[in-house]
Amino acid sequence: MSTPLGNRKNIVLLGRRNSGKSSIFNLLIDQDKSIVADYLGTTTDPVYHMMELLPYGPVKIVDTAGIDDEGLVGQKRVDKTRLEIEDADLLVYVIDANDFCSEDIYLEDGSMVAKPTVYIVNKCHDSIDRDHIKSKIESYIEKYKQVKEDNEKNNKNEKNSSKEGASKEGPSIVFTDLVSSRQESRKLIIESLVDILSSLEPDRGLIDGLIRPGDKALLVVPIDSEAPKGRLILPQVQVIRECLDMGVMVSLVRDLELKRALEEMGHIDLVITDSQVFKEVASLVNESIDLTSFSILFARQKGDIDHLVRGARHIEKLRDGDRILIAESCSHTSNHEDIGTVKIPNLIRNKTGKDIEFDFSHGKDFKRDLSKYSLIIQCGGCMLTRSNMMVRINRARMAGVPITNYGVALAYLTGALDRVVY
Ligand code: SF4
Repeated sequence: MSTPLGNRKNIVLLGRRNSGKSSIFNLLIDQDKSIVADYLGTTTDPVYHMMELLPYGPVKIVDTAGIDDEGLVGQKRVDKTRLEIEDADLLVYVIDANDFCSEDIYLEDGSMVAKPTVYIVNKCHDSIDRDHIKSKIESYIEKYKQVKEDNEKNNKNEKNSSKEGASKEGPSIVFTDLVSSRQESRKLIIESLVDILSSLEPDRGLIDGLIRPGDKALLVVPIDSEAPKGRLILPQVQVIRECLDMGVMVSLVRDLELKRALEEMGHIDLVITDSQVFKEVASLVNESIDLTSFSILFARQKGDIDHLVRGARHIEKLRDGDRILIAESCSHTSNHEDIGTVKIPNLIRNKTGKDIEFDFSHGKDFKRDLSKYSLIIQCGGCMLTRSNMMVRINRARMAGVPITNYGVALAYLTGALDRVVY
């Protein structure tokens, strides 16, 4: 199985039209995947490529349409590029050395300034004054920092887990001329990307802090009509793999065999269950055994779990006419479908007795205007990176809307939240 999307760092190329993004993208992936031409706006929709960026590891590289695209359709492309930028762990900002213009780029809201960035000054032939361009980039970064500071003053609670792209030694700038030095340019760019990626805080393991090597974990996996044929789903596979990596003795049962397994297996340290059967599992598992769910493990790895727990407790404050956004991060005929569209709405209506409205979003379509919602319930986000998830949590924070996720909401709605470990 290839590395899941949620475990790959997102590297997003951006820049003005015709700055050479697609040439850099093709150079990085060592293929001609993105169309390259000498006229403006060649790349319309984002182009994705999964690769191992050695010696760092698995990444997703995204080529985007020009950030300065124009017209009605151009604006739609820019909107798509912005979504990619929002999801990025690392930006690669491609600049045409012959046409550097820092004034017309995406500065207005400052929302992208916290991302680590490698600046690639492309088409950089011998007569280019590199020092001049370097000082222009530095002043551009200063301007960014000011916008960022102003934003943070306005949003005092906003936290961002990303480190600054411009380190104390100065911004990471690579001067390239693909005409005269393709392989040398590739080497320099990859070294810069690896440098910054390696300096980012590593993601916390799914089960870190909940269990120790040599402990026993029991996983509860319902195999019903919703379960995919012949395989386990990604969150289950990842938890099993982490247990094995850590030297945890891991066993698996269906919910139907749980009672017997608990009787026969002796001491168990941690039970991890699918959220769908939380209530049934909680009623069988003795209070002396730690209990959690796959969805809660992802919530603590990828998001701010305390904030998500506070979000779930907001359910008791809902009133008639309130609107909830249910956000699933991939569009699929999924085994989660009934959790988001049917089970959680029904449980909330039953628990609160209120007349609540629900909206649904899928994939990257996390609504732009969150202010009309009283609560956001995000799926487990197994396809999302931690930074994708934190963007969503921070956007909810900035809009003043509580946010929780499926697993935490289900634990709250079934009365199990006070006994789960996270
Ligand atoms: S909807 Fe969310 S939790 Fe379900 S598979 Fe997609 S990303 Fe993972």
